[in-house]
Amino acid sequence: MNVETHVAIGRVVSRHLHLDPCLEECFVRGLKKPDLNAGRRGRRIRRHHGIHMDSVMSIIWSARRAYLAGDLEKALEALGVALHYVQDSCVVGARRRFRRIHYRVEREIASLEIPVDAIREGFKKAECSPLFVKTVLYSIKPSTNPVEALRNASLYSAMITGAVYNQSQPPQEVLEILERVKMEEAKKRRKAKRNAWISIALLAIGLALIPAQPLISAILLALSLILLLATLIHRVDPQFEQLAWYGIV
Ligand SMILES: [Zn+2]
Repeated sequence: MNVETHVAIGRVVSRHLHLDPCLEECFVRGLKKPDLNAGRRGRRIRRHHGIHMDSVMSIIWSARRAYLAGDLEKALEALGVALHYVQDSCVVGARRRFRRIHYRVEREIASLEIPVDAIREGFKKAECSPLFVKTVLYSIKPSTNPVEALRNASLYSAMITGAVYNQSQPPQEVLEILERVKMEEAKKRRKAKRNAWISIALLAIGLALIPAQPLISAILLALSLILLLATLIHRVDPQFEQLAWYGIV
């Protein structure tokens, strides 16, 4: 997508957020950034098309964290970068086979008006939740139709902005998750303590048995290590993400 189109979508989104000119420029800077950084055209194409949505999600997380910390300039710039990738993903890729179609679609998009109604609709649909953002990211499909591609790019940009740039307080369901997570954490801590003691015991027995029973000793040492690793590895669950989105954990 042309840089002018990225900026034009951004300006309409900015109007909906009532950003002051200084903040709007931070947002626009972010929207332009991936093209400026990528430099040469060939490299730009490789970088832009096929970027993994998990990487876009981590940029969105940094935007949300900055927003919660009150650093709106940083938040909007990061959000701009993420939306650039989102918008590019709405257009058919520029890989060799589709290159000509890609440039035609890109050119036609540049001559279209930004669909303000799609942006309004996106803000209406937005939910302040990381799961919502992920669902949006993974539902993006590249299009060869310029009108559809621009509409989706505008709609998804507004949906994601509405989820990130949102000052709602945590809803009841998130507060309930917090209570549940606190109880689970306490249970996990007790279990981790017990596992750590078992692991130390296995380690001690294993070491003591090295001269007499090397095979049993090796098995015990391996078990001790596995138990210790299982205790240390902390999985990030979706509930935790819901809380982090509101800056609670
Ligand atoms: Zn781009």
